[in-house]
Amino acid sequence: MNEEIFLCSICNINSGTCNEDCKFCSQSVRYKANIERYIHKPMEKILEEAVNARDHGALGFCLVTADKGITDKSLKFVCDVAKEVQKVAPELRLIACNGTATLEQLLVLKEAGIKAYNHNLETSEAFYPNICTTHPWSERYETCQNVNKAGLVLITGGIFGLGETQQERVSMLESLASLNPASVPINFYHHNEALQLQPNPLTADEALELIKLTRTTIPHAQRIMVAGGRELMFGKRQAEIFAYGANSIVIGNYLTTSGAAMESDLEMVRSLGLKVAKSVQ
Ligand code: SF4
Repeated sequence: MNEEIFLCSICNINSGTCNEDCKFCSQSVRYKANIERYIHKPMEKILEEAVNARDHGALGFCLVTADKGITDKSLKFVCDVAKEVQKVAPELRLIACNGTATLEQLLVLKEAGIKAYNHNLETSEAFYPNICTTHPWSERYETCQNVNKAGLVLITGGIFGLGETQQERVSMLESLASLNPASVPINFYHHNEALQLQPNPLTADEALELIKLTRTTIPHAQRIMVAGGRELMFGKRQAEIFAYGANSIVIGNYLTTSGAAMESDLEMVRSLGLKVAKSVQ
């Protein structure tokens, strides 16, 4: 088992304003999910969340916007936020997650202090048209290639439990491996009644096996992160994820759903005799 666990916190600095039709996403305006929606989270709130995440052991702090890709306006906002967060919590490694991005846009983020970029493939190329019709999977793959070209740390993963087959899960993992990511966030679909998808059919045992499959298919990734859906998917069995190859978790809230209290996650890690990682490459 991994002895060091890497903690990351995500901050939805813009929420619920996306026009795309990703069927798993409550941030799309099309499905009218009952979530908080705003153009910009106030800077004071973002800085408060950053300091709180740092104080609870998070190494990564991810600035997430809800849109298909970066626009001139969102690029400026993310850069402004990055500069302010560095002033109050310089220990945090800043991650941006702002959708599709060109090499030029990524270089602007890098200049503003962003160290890593998260863009998920979400699912396999073949299954993707079943969950999104407004943009192609290839744009997602190209953005990940741009992240590597920009010299940013690549974080890319996907979601299990959308109705995909096991073959399609393997295909997604092979595509992820081909991008050589440093970190692979895996999410388990968290159903919202406003969405058209059927609830996640996976059992906890099947989900644990998928963590193991992710680890073995992408052996060179420094971190396999269990991100959204952890609490719902594993319930009282959450601690087992580490024995199956996960060495990173998101602490605190997710984008539109609540997570466990940060303290209880820290307690879980310590109770297993694991250490919270103090630095990240
Ligand atoms: S592009 Fe991103 S924010 Fe927009 S609906 Fe799809 S997953 Fe959600």
